[in-house]
Amino acid sequence: MRFSTIRARVAIVSAVFALALIGSVAVGTYVLVARGMRAAAVETAGRLASASDRAMQNAIDAAYERANRAGLEGEAARADVARQITAEPPAAFEQGLVYEGSFSLHVAEHPGDDLGLAWSIGDPPHDPGDRSRVEAARTGTPVRAFPGAQPLIVGMFVKADLGVYTTHLPIEIPGLYAAVLDVSYVPAAQEEILDGTRLPMYILGSIGLLGSLLIAAGATRWAISLIEDLRRTADSVDVGMLDIRLPEEGDNEVADLARSLNRLIDNLQRRNEAQTRFIADASHELATPVAGIRGYVNILRAWGAEDPALQEEAVSAIDRESRRMARLCSDLLSLIRSEEQVEFRQIRYDINAVCREVLANAATRYLDKGLEYTGPGDGSLWLHGDPDRIEEALGILVDNACKYTPEGGRVSLTTRRSRDRIIVTVADSGVGIPEADLPNVFERFYRSDLSRSQETGGFGLGLAIAKHIIDVSGGTVTVRSVIGQGTTFEVSLPRQRGK
Ligand code: ADP
Repeated sequence: MRFSTIRARVAIVSAVFALALIGSVAVGTYVLVARGMRAAAVETAGRLASASDRAMQNAIDAAYERANRAGLEGEAARADVARQITAEPPAAFEQGLVYEGSFSLHVAEHPGDDLGLAWSIGDPPHDPGDRSRVEAARTGTPVRAFPGAQPLIVGMFVKADLGVYTTHLPIEIPGLYAAVLDVSYVPAAQEEILDGTRLPMYILGSIGLLGSLLIAAGATRWAISLIEDLRRTADSVDVGMLDIRLPEEGDNEVADLARSLNRLIDNLQRRNEAQTRFIADASHELATPVAGIRGYVNILRAWGAEDPALQEEAVSAIDRESRRMARLCSDLLSLIRSEEQVEFRQIRYDINAVCREVLANAATRYLDKGLEYTGPGDGSLWLHGDPDRIEEALGILVDNACKYTPEGGRVSLTTRRSRDRIIVTVADSGVGIPEADLPNVFERFYRSDLSRSQETGGFGLGLAIAKHIIDVSGGTVTVRSVIGQGTTFEVSLPRQRGK
């Protein structure tokens, strides 16, 4: 058994908790009941002492009467009373009191004598109780002594023993110097009640302990089964089964965790699908120029030697297709690099300077198209971020604007401040994007039909790269377009340092 598992820990904690709870309830109850029993024993012992006192007085009076009736008087009568009382226990003891307790009479006939036993009845305790007895004789007042009680906790587990309750009762007996009646009471009935509670207490305690362990085990099994579900699902996801989901029913922490994990699996599945689509698209895009090149190589092999014109055409086609492949590889590399988890810098830079640079580069590349360029002007507009990555994103947008705008058209790159953001607008007077394509243009490999026919058309990766850069910079990009009139991309960037 592993002690670090939830099951083992819950079992240990609940067992300790149940033991502590049931133990303290049991001990508390026993101690309370036992205290009550002790108090009852003290009271009974007191009553027994009073009854014994009365019985002794009655016996002395009766003895006196008998002495008088026998014609004895004075010293002789007192000596006769002393003889009668010390000879044997008075009848009241034999007839009833002996069932309640045990008694012993100790007398001293003359001053200076020790108290000696006159009689005893009912098996008095062995303890002679000398000191208390002598004390009672000396002071003439009853002395109580409760010796022999064991601690209550021992009584709880072994056998109840509330002790012996003895009262040393001084009695004045004519003809004797001193007399003390020891009245002892053993609370056997109370001890029996206490002993009787032990078994039910054990049984109830065991049932309670077992019950709480069963409840704890049930609750643990329920929680563990949910965790097992989570584990099985995680294992399935681990081996690539992404269509599996965890049960989300219930309003508890495990259901919350299941919901979070399901969201995580959703995301994984989406990423996985996107990645598969991306690989399929990339392979397809690469396959097209490769097929072209192989076709022209076959043509060259078959007829290239005899037909110089055909040879020239095939070589330039191979050149075109291989350039296209090189461009695709470079685009793919840019995309992968843009999505790598590299830190974006956070420096203060002038967006207008970046825009001027982007525009100047585009103008150089598209010199032959005779486009009319509008830039952001001479002033500066500062913000925080990574100027190189933003230049890359704006470069893609401006490149597209130039690419999809016919000769003599207009391309503008302007900036403005709007509260805590900088808005960069890239507008052209080009072919435009059909409305149906607008929601998809930022997807990888997505190309509008209008651009497919264009010689200059790319692979549909540029806008995906640009959007990713802008997203990571804490910005947003939107597009609007009118077919035949032009397209406008609006980039909104935060001015202050991003998180
Ligand atoms: P590409 O390399 O094909 O240009 P992009 O991701 O940059 O890939 O653009 C995706 C598609 O969006 C393009 O194929 C094109 O159809 C359309 N597009 C992007 N910018 C413009 C624009 N300024 N004018 C017209 N169409 C555009």
